[in-house]
Formats: sequence, structure tokens, C-alpha cells
Amino acid sequence: MLWEELQIHIEQLAEKAQKRTLIQAESDGCFIHIDGRHLFNFSSNNYLGFAHDERLIHASMEATRRYGVGATASRLVVGNHPLYEQAEDALVRWKGCEAALIVNSGYTANVGILSSLAGRDAVIFSDKWNHASIVDGAILSRAEVRRYRHADVDHLETLLKKAERHKRKIIVTDTIFSMDGDVAPLRELVALKETYGAMLVVDEAHASGIYGEKGQGMAHEHEIAEQIDVHMGTFSKALGAYGAYVAGKRVVIDYFINTMRPFIFTTALPPSVLGTICTAIEIVQQERSLRHHLHALSDYFRTHLQQAGFDIGQSTTHIVPIIVGDNERALAFSVRLRERGIVAVAIRPPTVPDGTARLRFSLMATMTKEQLDWALAEITAVGKEMGLIV
Ligand code: PMP
Repeated sequence: MLWEELQIHIEQLAEKAQKRTLIQAESDGCFIHIDGRHLFNFSSNNYLGFAHDERLIHASMEATRRYGVGATASRLVVGNHPLYEQAEDALVRWKGCEAALIVNSGYTANVGILSSLAGRDAVIFSDKWNHASIVDGAILSRAEVRRYRHADVDHLETLLKKAERHKRKIIVTDTIFSMDGDVAPLRELVALKETYGAMLVVDEAHASGIYGEKGQGMAHEHEIAEQIDVHMGTFSKALGAYGAYVAGKRVVIDYFINTMRPFIFTTALPPSVLGTICTAIEIVQQERSLRHHLHALSDYFRTHLQQAGFDIGQSTTHIVPIIVGDNERALAFSVRLRERGIVAVAIRPPTVPDGTARLRFSLMATMTKEQLDWALAEITAVGKEMGLIV
């Protein structure tokens, strides 16, 4: 009986072109091997190419040799191996915050931050397009959740005005939205949090390593880092590895160490990951030219897609959607591009709102302009074949 219900659920997803399947993929710089084919990859978050950087591979192997393959316990028990302190000290210097804490993943970080900061006596104000981990953290916190229209500070202000005075207020936003590549109105959010006595939590998952003078993130790029109460970012994207950080005032970090259940009740990261993170934090600060190249490529790519007539939403970054609308069409677009040697995965509801299925292109600093010219020609040809552009 139960199995039949599950089967029906899967069939319903398939009918809406929303059924997911796993594909085996082995990435190799900006290429990827799938089904024996070598394809140009627009679907990875390895924005600076660090996942295959020799310096990081070396750091990972050295850490394993020295400390073994596993952390053996949670951090508060005996899993807090010396590389944690090294990485957190480096983070504090990089982010310019009083303290920092490394947690096991970006997903864990968001679930942990919100469920720890907010209880029944809190209201969370969350951008409608925030990442699923923020949505889940807000649910787990049992706080009241008010979702404001995407990047709409007027709507947020209306909701803030209605919130009860005595309740703890937390505003939370991605800085770069993962499926749209647009940027949160950070300065306006800071002004609102100050007016209404709220805390501001930002998720720099897609901006860490890419924005800011030393790649610290969008808050630094906008010169408002000090006004942010909680900075969160990941090591799983531009920094090439795995894991995440939370940074802010010492008291906030001490509070998390004592109350963040997804931090307390899980085994610490393996030494190899921590060793990689230590080196990634050091080298990312020096890679200014990679950042500049990525920004130049992204501007070029977006301009050409727009000129060709594609709908790229409000993207201003290295994440560029082509919004198609219909799920089946997005899938067909992706399949046709793959036939021509390009991987750009179709993103469908519930990851994005109904009727906004899209291909998500993420650019890498290791790509060349010549490669983009070739890809743009292929994308444009398929767009014309499918009647997406004229
Ligand atoms: N926040 C955002 C905005 C993300 O896009 C993601 C993952 N794609 C996460 C958090 C989760 O990070 P991780 O993959 O390290 O768990």
C-alpha cells in the first residue's frame, strides 16, 4: 500500500516533467565526462577551478597523512583536530570578523544558524527566493516565518512594521541568488535592520571567493560587512572543497558553539577537507586576476545572450539563467545542448517557482573567451531551432 503511494508520487512527478534521476559525472576543469562523452560544463559551482588545483590536492593529501582519514568524533568531544584552529584563524583574518566557526556544510550551516538564533519568540523575514537550506532552517526553528517578495525592501518593511515589538527579528538573505544570479539589496537591508532592530544574516555561498577585494564576499564588495550580524559562506563552491563557515562577533560564535544542534551532534570534518580549506582560504585571497577574468567572461556571456533575445532575468553575476518557463521545454533545451557538447542542467520547480523552468549556466574562471564564443553560437542555434528566440 505504502509502496503504491510512493510509486504514484513518482509517476505524478514524471507527468509534470519534474522527476529527478542521478547521472554519473566526472568533472575535469570546465569539462565533464558523462556517458563516455567529454562535455563543456556550465553546471558546476567550481567557479575558480579550485576543485582540481594541485596546491589543494597536495594540502588534502598532507592532512590525511598527518591526521588520518576521519575526525573520529564531534568537535565538542575529541574531533576538534588542530587544523580547525588554523582554518578558523585564517577565516577571522580573511573576513575581518571577531570569530568564525567551521561547520560541515552550507546546508547544515543555514539550518543550524536559524534554528539556533530563532525560537518560538522570534520572527524570521526571509526572501522568497532564498536557498532551501534557509527555508528548512526557518521551519525547524519554530519561529514565525514571513517571506517577503524577492528583493522587495518595501514589502519587507511592511512586514517588519507589522511584527510585534518584543519579538526577536531576523532578516535572512542569500547575497547572490543561486538560481538567478542576481544580488540582494544589501545596503537597503542594512538600513531596515537598523531601523527595526533586527539581526541580518547573509548567505555568501555563491559570492565567497568571487566578490570583495580578497574574495570575502558581497558584503565586503558593498562595504557593509561590519553591519552584518551573521556571515555564512561555503567552501564547496569557489573554494573547491567542502564545508561552510559562520563568522561574526565572538559572542555570536560562542552562542552557536553552545546551541547549534547541527554543529554539536555530528562528526567533525575529515582532516583532508580541513587541510584543503586552510590552503584554499590563503590562495583565494591572492587570485584577484581569476576573479577579474570571471567577471569579464560573465559580462560578455550575459550581454551576448541578451542581445540574442534570451530572457536572463536580473542576473548580474557569473550565474546566468536562461528562463524558458515550461518544464518540458527546459528539459528539451538541455538535451539538445548536450547533443552539441554542452552541459547546462534544467532547473525546474520546486527549486524555482512554477512556470519559470530554466537552464542555469554558471561560469568558471578557467574558461576562455573562445570557448564561450563557441558555446554562445551553439546556445543561440538551439534557441532558434526551438523558437525561444527569433
Ligand atoms: N546556500 C546556498 C545559497 C546554496 O546555493 C547552497 C548549495 N547549493 C547551500 C547554501 C548549501 O551549501 P552546501 O552545498 O555546502 O551544503
